[in-house]
Amino acid sequence: PLATMAAMVGKWRPAAAQAATVKSYGAGELGAAIAGDELVNYYQPKVAVATGAVVGVETLVRWRHPTDGLVFPDQFIGVAEEHGLIDGLTRVVLTGAMADAAAWLKLGLRLRVAINISMDNFSTVDFADFVSGAAAAAAVAPQDVILEVTESRLMLDRRAPLEVLTRLRLKRFGLSIDDFGTGHSSLTQLRDIPFDELKIDSSFVHGAWRDTTALAMYAASLGLGKQLGMEVVAEGVEDQDDWDLLRRTNCDLAQGYFIARPMPAADLAGWNTIWNER
Ligand code: C2E
Ligand code: CA
Ligand code: CA
Ligand code: CA
Repeated sequence: PLATMAAMVGKWRPAAAQAATVKSYGAGELGAAIAGDELVNYYQPKVAVATGAVVGVETLVRWRHPTDGLVFPDQFIGVAEEHGLIDGLTRVVLTGAMADAAAWLKLGLRLRVAINISMDNFSTVDFADFVSGAAAAAAVAPQDVILEVTESRLMLDRRAPLEVLTRLRLKRFGLSIDDFGTGHSSLTQLRDIPFDELKIDSSFVHGAWRDTTALAMYAASLGLGKQLGMEVVAEGVEDQDDWDLLRRTNCDLAQGYFIARPMPAADLAGWNTIWNER
């Protein structure tokens, strides 16, 4: 019966998640994977709610593991942060994303590319210089690069992150506050850091239309973002009901399985054509 249940659960899970096994990885193995080209960037579109236009993509890293298949970031980002590997990981992801953005540009596809940044990245003094160097090398404009920041744990010393974020801001990179309303991603940060974009966490988006509490959180976050002049993105848009809520409430951008699952760089141009013709 357990095997049958596992098979059923397997069928139930989104296709993109099927290869992942729940297991934790060692720092040695992960370090070798980062150095050895085993990480691969997937991209998920962000679209304008009012027009349906594709305005950008979020970069989501996967690990093409030699024996375990496609491993998802929740299984190794924490390991990277704990073992001093996040700096190298972010650099690999960012460099790859800039190369892909440059390739899309050649196809006539100008997209803003978002990268997930860990708070630990800010302990490296030259992080802002690295980001601008990578963008310049690929001839991608800073305005077309967005850094999505999440604070997964309490930061005791806030000066280093503030300094790096301010430098990035001065260089005209876009700053986005990720998973808004969860963890430490909250009001204090909005006051301290000049974000351009606010991402409402999927837990306040998917199914919010029939959940009074989630709906109140969604509406409050949307209103706050708009009042502060930020572009607001709703994450976790999984079905027509979610999409209709965003339309009714004039949310700026939407991201989620209803629009597209994260996909390899090579699939994006084809997806974009189909999306525009729908
Ligand atoms: P996130 O930044 O909040 O990214 C959104 C996550 O939600 C992604 O999971 C995405 O695949 C998933 N998602 C997208 N649409 C839907 C939907 O409609 N419904 C649901 N339920 N989920 C949806 P993923 O790719 O597994 O990434 C998980 C987290 O790992 C990310 O959450 C981000 O915090 C982190 N991460 C991913 N790539 C990187 C990276 O390059 N660097 C760092 N530091 N963190 C990363
Ligand atoms: Ca993100
Ligand atoms: Ca998020
Ligand atoms: Ca998240």
